[in-house]
Amino acid sequence: MKCYKCEKAEFNEKKVEFIQLGISLGKFDAFVCPVCEETVFEGSVSKKIEIKAKEAGIWGLARKTRLGTSGSSLDVKVPKVIVDFLNLKKGQEAIIEPTAKNKIQITVV
Ligand SMILES: [Zn+2]
Repeated sequence: MKCYKCEKAEFNEKKVEFIQLGISLGKFDAFVCPVCEETVFEGSVSKKIEIKAKEAGIWGLARKTRLGTSGSSLDVKVPKVIVDFLNLKKGQEAIIEPTAKNKIQITVV
C-alpha cells in the first residue's frame, strides 16, 4: 500500500506507541510511511485505542463553550470536565495565544 500523503514510498507495518495528552496508551499495530512518517491505524485498532483512552479518562474532553464579555475583553468559559482533568483553580496564571486564525492555545503556567 503506497503512502497516500507523500506518494513516495510503501507503508511499513510497525508497532507504534500512541500518546494522547502526554499519556501513553500503549503500542498498537500501524502502517507507517518511511518517508513522511504518516501513521495510519486500521479501524479495529482505532477502536482499541478509543477504549484505552476511555479507560484513562482522556477520551472526548473537547467541549463547546461560548465567549462571554468582561469589560473590553472576552471571557472563555472552561467546562468542568476540563477543569477537573487539568485540576485548574481560580486565579491560576495562564498564557493565551492564537495558533491559527480560528485557534487559541491556553497554557497553564
Ligand atoms: Zn509518506
